[in-house]
Amino acid sequence: AQWLKDRVAVVTGAGSGIGKAAAIRLAEHGARVCLVDLTERRAGDVKRDIEAAGGEAIVVDTDVSDPARVQAAIEQTVRTWGKLDIVFANAGINGIVTPIEDMSPEEWDHTLTTNLKGTFLAVKFAIPHMKEKGGSIVITSSINGNRKFSGFGMSAYSTSKAGQMAFGKMAALELARYKIRVNIICPGAIKTNINENTQQTPELDKIKIPVNYPEGSQPLEHHAGSPEQVADLVLFLASDYSSHITGTEVFIDGAESLL
Ligand code: NAD
Repeated sequence: AQWLKDRVAVVTGAGSGIGKAAAIRLAEHGARVCLVDLTERRAGDVKRDIEAAGGEAIVVDTDVSDPARVQAAIEQTVRTWGKLDIVFANAGINGIVTPIEDMSPEEWDHTLTTNLKGTFLAVKFAIPHMKEKGGSIVITSSINGNRKFSGFGMSAYSTSKAGQMAFGKMAALELARYKIRVNIICPGAIKTNINENTQQTPELDKIKIPVNYPEGSQPLEHHAGSPEQVADLVLFLASDYSSHITGTEVFIDGAESLL
């Protein structure tokens, strides 16, 4: 059965990784999906995959930190399909990985602006279109900044991810009166391309902080999770099967954060 028949969704960061898998999963369950990603990383392939499977999607190139473009993407979605039911605020970057004393204020701002302000903007501009009939918002945070603090050099990233958790809870409280649910997902290591764009500075390499467990050794499966496993969680939180769940976080990490 299709869990999201006739629903309309916006997914940010839909061109890759978790966003891509979630967009495909939502579409499989009947949602029409607006795929938002940066110009460089068009979500065109994802649109083709969705359409090949009989679904409907549009692509909107948008930098999630640009208020006018985020608003325009949401309005284009509503113009196309007449409404908005689901927002998956997922776009994010690791940013530069470096000790705090070497982190430039510009690099700090870039990570915070993309991850945290980008989430705020997607939620803010969705509200006018969801407040009459309710809906579901899912935010991709992380175990980092919430339950795990071992990402050495990732102070900006972890701060942005902690901020998304706080923001998601405040949004759930404020938006409950509109029957808009807001939940936060906290993945552990997931096999995506996120590390390709991550720059580690030489200063970080010099410090050589020992890692207390080998990378990928998640107790449950002994390897990183897949984007599809995260997509199943997004589907559940987007659907009516989670109708009494709001303002909560779900860790999806194979117990990585308990080590
Ligand atoms: P990814 O790099 O595979 O995909 C992220 C997508 O977001 C990319 O297509 C990228 O182009 C897009 N994006 C980046 N900046 C953008 C911007 N300013 N505007 C619009 N789109 C933008 O990474 P992923 O692993 O799928 O990450 C998705 C989310 O999951 C992020 O918020 C990340 O912090 C979070 N996360 C990932 C992991 C992991 O291990 N991969 C773990 C915990 C949390």
